Amino acid sequence: MSGRRTVAITGSASGIGAAVRARLEHDGWDVVGVDLAGQEVEADLSTPEGRDAAVRDVRARLDDDTLDAVVACAGLGPQIERRDLLVSVNFFGAVAVLDGLLDPLARGQQPAAVAICSNSISVTPMPDPRLVDLMLADDEAAAVALAPSLDGPTVYAMTKLALGRALRRRVQAWADRKVRLNLVAPGPVLTPLYQGTLDDPVLGPLVDLLPVPMGRPSEPEEIAGPIAFLLSPESAMIHGSVLFVDGGSDALLRSDHV
Ligand code: NAD
Repeated sequence: MSGRRTVAITGSASGIGAAVRARLEHDGWDVVGVDLAGQEVEADLSTPEGRDAAVRDVRARLDDDTLDAVVACAGLGPQIERRDLLVSVNFFGAVAVLDGLLDPLARGQQPAAVAICSNSISVTPMPDPRLVDLMLADDEAAAVALAPSLDGPTVYAMTKLALGRALRRRVQAWADRKVRLNLVAPGPVLTPLYQGTLDDPVLGPLVDLLPVPMGRPSEPEEIAGPIAFLLSPESAMIHGSVLFVDGGSDALLRSDHV
């Protein structure tokens, strides 16, 4: 590969996104960070206007409108009161940024993108799939209207399940552009988002109920490493995968789901 590579990272001001930023900068990447504040691009991914601005402002910073990687980390946790925002940021914000940056990615060097899913997709009961279906149907207004009738952990897991499905459905279209697209599904990671869940009077006591075979939450850097791998030529044939980085919880609870 020749020259420096450029990556756009959403949610780069905190937690996993900040760790990805630090890791990739250390590896020699040029980073265009996107967050509500304090990064190269300031944008609110909860609104269509904010998403358009994010894509426009990232592209304005690129050389020759060319980008080598995108990491979609921006997200909100299950404890937030505004469940509609989980839908708008975790699902629609991530999808819009990824789709909006596909053209510059297609001009990149061995281009790849990664989005952050969650192992909540495999441990959260979802008997009624309507919200997932509305997101996949691209009906943000209906999904936002339905979300407040469901509890936070369910909405959160559904945004991540819909994100996983939406991105896996793009596997041929993105391969046709020679851009790889994968997801990382963490368990608990020591970030402000996770701390917010721990501090929640209802959700906090439930967090410990998730068995983690490795016996501890992840450090953000332990998510950044697998993401760096998924962006590297080492993973040239990994496309459309969901990589669980959760200390073994998914494998423990769903050993036979292979
Ligand atoms: P975090 O709160 O530390 O960082 C999230 C970042 O997203 C923040 O910088 C925040 O400002 C940004 N963001 C939130 N709303 C935004 C908006 N409307 N527009 C632009 N940026 C916005 O959280 P984190 O734990 O690093 O989470 C990163 C991703 O990892 C999220 O998608 C989260 O769902 C996912 N995840 C986290 C965990 C965990 O335990 N921490 C587990 C599984 C998945």
